[in-house]
Amino acid sequence: STVSLAEIRAQFLDYFGRNDHVVLPSSPLVPDNDPTLLFVNAGMVPFKDNFTGQRTPDAPRAASSQKCVRAGGKHNDLDNVGYTARHHTFFEMLGNFSFGDYFKEQAISHAWELVTKDFGLAKDKLLVTVYHTDDEAFDLWKKIAGLSDDRIIRIATSDNFWAMGDTGPCGPCSEIFYDHGPSIAGGPPGSPDEDGDRFIEIWNLVFMQYERHADGRQVDLPRPSIDTGMGLERTAAILQGKHDNYDTDLFQTLIGASVELTGAKAEGEAKFSHRVIADHLRSCSFLMADGVSPSNEGRGYVLRRIMRRAMRHAHLLGAKDPLMHRLVPTLVDEMGNAFGELKRAQASIEATFEQEEERFRRTLGRGMGLLEEATSRLGKGDELPGETAFKLYDTYGFPLDLTQDALRGRGIGVDVDGFETAMEKQRAKSQADGGKFDTAGADDVFKKLREESGATAFTGFDRLSETHEIV
Ligand code: ATP
Ligand code: MG
Ligand code: MG
Ligand code: MG
Repeated sequence: STVSLAEIRAQFLDYFGRNDHVVLPSSPLVPDNDPTLLFVNAGMVPFKDNFTGQRTPDAPRAASSQKCVRAGGKHNDLDNVGYTARHHTFFEMLGNFSFGDYFKEQAISHAWELVTKDFGLAKDKLLVTVYHTDDEAFDLWKKIAGLSDDRIIRIATSDNFWAMGDTGPCGPCSEIFYDHGPSIAGGPPGSPDEDGDRFIEIWNLVFMQYERHADGRQVDLPRPSIDTGMGLERTAAILQGKHDNYDTDLFQTLIGASVELTGAKAEGEAKFSHRVIADHLRSCSFLMADGVSPSNEGRGYVLRRIMRRAMRHAHLLGAKDPLMHRLVPTLVDEMGNAFGELKRAQASIEATFEQEEERFRRTLGRGMGLLEEATSRLGKGDELPGETAFKLYDTYGFPLDLTQDALRGRGIGVDVDGFETAMEKQRAKSQADGGKFDTAGADDVFKKLREESGATAFTGFDRLSETHEIV
């Protein structure tokens, strides 16, 4: 009998509830306290003002399982999906928070107790990192967990020092890693081959003990705080005896549905496509449940880009008709009880997926044809001309990142500068013609699509992504 996501979530929240934390529901994915942030990407985001002192918390301790999306901006895991065992665009971050209440010692002892007692993980599979100058954390890990010196790794990079921004609270971090064993490639954190997936980070503890001032000074906070984040899906993989998040029961169910509907076995290249589809199904559905709809700018364009990436993979699997909306019922079966918003929005999520996929399919096949033709003589290290990438974007509705993604497996890049130049030329031309951004000779479908959903704004996404993001 394997332990489900729902059970692990409940165990985490119960543990902190028992330890005097107020258990709060997840906030929506669109942040209500930060217009510059694309999506909530960590458990602490809804509590940001509690940490800066702008808001007085209702209680000194809280715990939550927060919906997160990392598909743009500072934290962009879109390109990791399918390539690593541990990244999703949508995931749940379990977290406990102390707003000027308990600090380092209690945060470490809570984490260690939960992981080794409640979750029952073997001590000899665990190792931790601390910031290189944080002797206090090093000594606490030794004292509380009894870890040997070689299992407490000092790291000097920003991975182990967190800051809210150029000013505000900041401090050292400690990350807990699980060793999935020597059969998997990868070295321990801090080693040259740390990017492998043998040692997987499960929990990040942030010790907010300083305040950074505009003049660069870093002063001690009178009442330091705690922010932690633990990946629910990574924890589930371990507790279900799996190495790879995509082999857990939830993902296997979603992938199973995708296999059944496409008739393509999850083997070779197709395995990769099914994983991307399962991942993107979750992020897109949850974004729509929280009120984001596909559009040509801002958050809506990020959603559209994720959708189209999934739809290209459905096409690669040989789907003859729109696929994504037919997977929604399986997702709702799996996650609708924990997230009522998913159930409530089911009909509109399905309708939006279907409409988007129907539209994109009108040009997807021809765009793929053009891409194949344009790259037939290209190989590893070559670049697709920017003009062609722009034509794919403008005429066939291929977001730039989709084209890059499609060529990545062959080691072919895209001339991004050339793409932007082509875009600029188009914009200047349309202004000179006195119209809005219109495209002479563009595919009718996309001309129409653009008219329906407003001007094309590739930059709309950049604007948000360049702004400052937390965590
Ligand atoms: P990694 O180094 O593996 O990319 P991270 O250091 O970027 O992880 P944090 O920002 O510390 O991650 O987030 C806290 C926790 O959330 C991580 O320890 C991990 O368990 C989980 N997590 C982070 N990113 C993802 C993701 N893309 N998919 C699934 N879980 C994630
Ligand atoms: Mg990361
Ligand atoms: Mg990390
Ligand atoms: Mg981390």
